[in-house]
Amino acid sequence: MKVPFNRPYMTGRELGYIARAHQNSMLAGDGPFTAACSRWLEQRTGARKALLTHSCTAALDMAAILAGIDPGDEVIMPSYTFVSTANAFVLRGGVPVFVDIRPDTLNLDAALVEAAITPRARAIVPVHYAGVACEMDAILEIARRRGLLVIEDAAQGLMSDYGGRALGTLGALGAVSFHETKNVIAGEGGALLVNDERLIERAEIVREKGTDRSRFFRGEVDKYTWVDIGSSFLPGEIVAAFLLAQMEDADSITARRMALWNTYHARLEPLERDGRLRRPVIPAGCRHNAHLYYVLLPSPGQRSRLMARLKALDILSVFHYVPLHSSPAGRRFGRACGPMTHTDDLSARLLRLPLWIGLDPAVIETIAAEIEAL
Ligand SMILES: *Cc1c(COP(=O)(O)O)cnc(C)c1O
Repeated sequence: MKVPFNRPYMTGRELGYIARAHQNSMLAGDGPFTAACSRWLEQRTGARKALLTHSCTAALDMAAILAGIDPGDEVIMPSYTFVSTANAFVLRGGVPVFVDIRPDTLNLDAALVEAAITPRARAIVPVHYAGVACEMDAILEIARRRGLLVIEDAAQGLMSDYGGRALGTLGALGAVSFHETKNVIAGEGGALLVNDERLIERAEIVREKGTDRSRFFRGEVDKYTWVDIGSSFLPGEIVAAFLLAQMEDADSITARRMALWNTYHARLEPLERDGRLRRPVIPAGCRHNAHLYYVLLPSPGQRSRLMARLKALDILSVFHYVPLHSSPAGRRFGRACGPMTHTDDLSARLLRLPLWIGLDPAVIETIAAEIEAL
């Protein structure tokens, strides 16, 4: 039997909700399902305002507009991240400044941020890799002192927190993803969490093609018109209907993923002690969402061997980001600040293992045995 790396989980209520959206005859964005999803997000995360988007990429694009990025402005971020983190700012003419990651969490190393700040710096974009929080106290303190905006790429971070506060709500803005590969899904989908009150009105305008349509619907203006730059960032109601069913099960989705994550973690503990691999590190004070389970093998060669052995058993494992500083577009549009030692080293040795609701725990045993036999 083939074991895929990921298999999207369905609650069973998605189609019923989609049928209701169909009956409502309201298929464009910002109908009742979109409103319910936004409310859920605001209640669960504590965000001042949650705006549903058609992807996390779209939410990051909105964030770059709201940050007022002008050509030549610099944005500090890890190189070990998905392309959208950087692309959003490059689309505004911004320059990603890549900083190395911490070897324990693989998150942006806060100790390196200060040295990356030039007079052109406008924002810091921490990425909560694997749904595990960055050192937000340190990052927020630097940002406050140096007058920079913090935009969290919390694409993987829904249902995780840092010191009791939901990821995506610590910076001025946070971007969340509901892509099929995340925990709570809509196929394609995302949200912008707006935590700085002063950005809410403009965020609504940017999301609605640069119009004050949201204010018009609230009866605050008697006609709506073009007032700013913007684009179409809304998902339709069919997508929101699907998403609402998922959100309602977010606790059980997290619990079921966590059980598998914990099974991996316990089974691989002796292998870590023997130096065969290194397991994910969860810092104190961080609650994570079991978004992914990865291992760090001692060498890139051993990673390739393990991948091949698992593939021979029809178990699919995958590595993760090609560091952006070494990608063709990353070289063209951004620059690295300092050596990317951990980024280069760890990205070459990291392997993500299958983790999805319904995964047979026997697969975890098989994987552990393969590592032992490596
Ligand atoms: C998945 C992901 C994104 C993009 O999310 P989409 O919803 O697919 O646009 C951005 N950043 C990170 C870190 C991600 O994991």
